Amino acid sequence: MNCEVCGSVIHGTPKRIVLEGTRLVVCSECSILGEPDLKPQFESTVKPKPAIAQPIRFGSSKLPKDFEELDIVEDFPERIRDAREKIGMTQKDLAKMVKERLSIIQKLEVGKMVPDMRLARMLEHALKIKLLTPRSEPKVEDVEGAEYELTLGDIIQYRRKD
Ligand SMILES: [Zn+2]
Repeated sequence: MNCEVCGSVIHGTPKRIVLEGTRLVVCSECSILGEPDLKPQFESTVKPKPAIAQPIRFGSSKLPKDFEELDIVEDFPERIRDAREKIGMTQKDLAKMVKERLSIIQKLEVGKMVPDMRLARMLEHALKIKLLTPRSEPKVEDVEGAEYELTLGDIIQYRRKD
């Protein structure tokens, strides 16, 4: 390797310097002509690692703590019935467990009644299922959007077709 300034063969370790904005590899004698280049030569071509974006955590303080920000899952009748049958529990047993009348359980399982938050919590516990889900999107306020919203009856009908 030759010195890029004087052209003589470099003995020992070549020095990297910056001379008038140009990076040069020079001999130790010529190294005094410029500023020592402390940075690795190809550093500028190495892209810095992109910062890893913090994943959005749903467990953060933004998680709704309020019952009012929770929705009952659409398929709660199926979930209740399936879970109850899996355990081998009768509707009467379940009614006793959640301290409700049998007729309430019957209505819930056919989707004729939507459980309130308290009852939903009780059912979740009794059947070890999820009935409450964080409200994902704010309700569309304008009237135009409203007509596209499925009613609970529509959803049940749709699901029964398949
Ligand atoms: Zn030199």
